[in-house]
Amino acid sequence: MYLFKRITDLQDFLDRQRKAGKTIGFAPTMGALHEGHLSLIRSCNSENDLSVCSIFVNPTQFNDPADLAAYPITLETDISLLCKADCSVLFLPGRDEIYPADRDTKLSINLDGLDQPMEGRFRPGHFEGVVQVVNRLLDIVRPDSLYMGQKDFQQLTIIRKMLEQVHREVRLVMCPVVREADGLAMSSRNRRLAPELRKEAALISRTLQEAVSRSKNQSFPQIALWARQQLKRPGFRMEYFEFVDALSLMPVESLEEASAVVICTAVWAGEVRLIDTIFVKGRESFTK
Ligand code: AMP
Repeated sequence: MYLFKRITDLQDFLDRQRKAGKTIGFAPTMGALHEGHLSLIRSCNSENDLSVCSIFVNPTQFNDPADLAAYPITLETDISLLCKADCSVLFLPGRDEIYPADRDTKLSINLDGLDQPMEGRFRPGHFEGVVQVVNRLLDIVRPDSLYMGQKDFQQLTIIRKMLEQVHREVRLVMCPVVREADGLAMSSRNRRLAPELRKEAALISRTLQEAVSRSKNQSFPQIALWARQQLKRPGFRMEYFEFVDALSLMPVESLEEASAVVICTAVWAGEVRLIDTIFVKGRESFTK
């Protein structure tokens, strides 16, 4: 695996590859890698000649400084995991590379309100930072395809909207949620869970699954109320549990209201904020 810290070195290398006709798949991450991230690299490798992974803990997307300070950094393990997953290139930029002092890298685009509900209500400014960093990384890497996880469904929807306006040539690939054996969605934050909360955290994905089963004969608002009760456990605090149209992210109350429906949820387990997503219907239309 090649490792580049500087933009110019990375670009020299990638330009040569492009000239040789190679296709490039790209998976941006914040490190503390797990199987979820590695699944993106494997998809990159299966569909492209080269896979590029970036690790950059992006300060502009953290609305809570304590969350940024506590974000796990496990660089040595990350490098060995990427090598094992046959990643071609790791891009490891410093803050000055991504956010040079002499340039405004903010991107203002029309997100059609996609950044307002759910995460937008609880993490003000978060998606501005996400759009800023993904746009900057795409400018630098210029991949053919971008690989992102379904787990961060609202983020992926917002990036799709961005790609309609800038970087239109980049294909977005949604990769399925990779889960622990008990169903908990893998996340870099899971390692911060207290052991007793880690044991109980699988309740989040069980609740999502059961909500999908219930959606066949109960209204969505009823199910959301039930879910709220389910997750009323010591140490747990639900922020939202919403059935939304998978395209517009607007709330829906029944299966008939949209061609694709997802449930998105955010739950605090102690000091750790966890998010998860499940499709209720229409996932097949989102595979590419
Ligand atoms: P992060 O490092 O948390 O910014 O995530 C980097 C990328 O990995 C994003 O596209 C995430 O959606 C994706 N990702 C994170 N966790 C998972 C997971 N459990 N399954 C699949 N993709 C994931």
